[in-house]
Amino acid sequence: MRHLLYNLNQIMPSPTLKPFGQDLLAAQYDNMLSCVRCGLCLSVCPTYQLRLTEPEGPRGRIAIAKALVEGNLSLTSDLLQHWDSCILCDACSFICPSGVRMEAIGQALRTAVTETKGANPSGMVVNAMLRWVLPNMGLLRTITGIGRLYQKSGLQRLTRASGVLRLLHLEEAEAMLPAINAPALVPNGQVWEPVGEHRATVALLAGCIMSTAFGETDRATARVLAANGCRVVVPAGQGCCGALHAHRGEIEGARTLARRNIDALLAGEADAIIVNAAGCGATLKHYGSLLADDPDYKDRAAVLAAKARDFTEFLAELGPRPPQRALNITVTYQEPCHLANAQRVREAPRKLLRAVPGLVLREMAESAMCCGSGAMYNVTQTESSHALRGRKVRNAAATGAKVIVTANPGCFIQLGQGVQEARESLRILHIADLLDQAYRP
Ligand code: SF4
Ligand code: SF4
Repeated sequence: MRHLLYNLNQIMPSPTLKPFGQDLLAAQYDNMLSCVRCGLCLSVCPTYQLRLTEPEGPRGRIAIAKALVEGNLSLTSDLLQHWDSCILCDACSFICPSGVRMEAIGQALRTAVTETKGANPSGMVVNAMLRWVLPNMGLLRTITGIGRLYQKSGLQRLTRASGVLRLLHLEEAEAMLPAINAPALVPNGQVWEPVGEHRATVALLAGCIMSTAFGETDRATARVLAANGCRVVVPAGQGCCGALHAHRGEIEGARTLARRNIDALLAGEADAIIVNAAGCGATLKHYGSLLADDPDYKDRAAVLAAKARDFTEFLAELGPRPPQRALNITVTYQEPCHLANAQRVREAPRKLLRAVPGLVLREMAESAMCCGSGAMYNVTQTESSHALRGRKVRNAAATGAKVIVTANPGCFIQLGQGVQEARESLRILHIADLLDQAYRP
């Protein structure tokens, strides 16, 4: 199957710029010019660390984009491959002393270019997800419901043992299905009342993958917030945040989803909009710029962006009540790029973990380096994704911890596969699930 996909990729048409593509790229020209080519970012760029070649690092990618705007290079598939392999993890932006914003350049480029995104088979699969599945929460719930039945009925065990997945080259795709242990959380205005003194009212973004494949983590998030004095509402009408659309350059799709969420999440009087998936939180915080040209939504988009908080960020700001229950475990923390780099939230999750009685936090090497999941990177760039995944699991295992804690569903799935592949006995936990155990009476 992989050979077939590779061969098909080779005969696909060359990329072209959309009619407005040159303008979109030109709008990022000053951003590109900020790069003084110091090379500081090379040490944190996951793809540069893997390949050790200039076009696979931030500096080379910026040079390519700049040459395209200046007309000194023409667009080819080979050239674009260096941008397709960028995870948009923003590790380079985080460290850059000149303030280069890599994600903005990458998104403009992906929006400006036509052909490559959807022209190859893996791109077609991703596009089908973006166009038909993620915007349709009913369909997504049906698909994950079938997945749950497949796991609970024992069919998964049988299929895996039979070797048929290996025969059909579907082993890897099947392994991406996380264990779906609970029914989906369908947002319909549910409320979790605060325990003790009422300290804040918050609206929870249930998310697309989070609410369907990780429904219990959403409930755990609400329980932890309630245990900390928050009234938690899950407004009806919300859906996918549009993060994957924005990453792939499907900006109109991202805008449509953003408008739906603004209508739903700002309907009440929430003090904050809480997000427990790092990629979604980063996207909500960008709704203001995403809808800056929409006269009907730009003001409310800015309001929502200002209220958006990662679950850990909000709890740390609120001042967490001391958890009562000792967990007596040793954990290591894997920082999702979209929390550590894009949202610059690094200390809050650590602060919450250290407050759990009996919990020992051991830092892993390169904790902020992408695990290779980044916005479907594991589907579109499997080879690099696997290399990064292996590196991450080795770093985690070297700490001697028994649990890897993370705060993003993509990382959760990716780490689970990595641990299985490396035959490590590490367990993966979302930080909300871990804190839920610590706050239970
Ligand atoms: S750190 Fe910033 S200025 Fe230096 S090479 Fe990287 S992107 Fe350019
Ligand atoms: S966004 Fe990430 S992968 Fe892309 S150039 Fe920057 S550090 Fe490298």
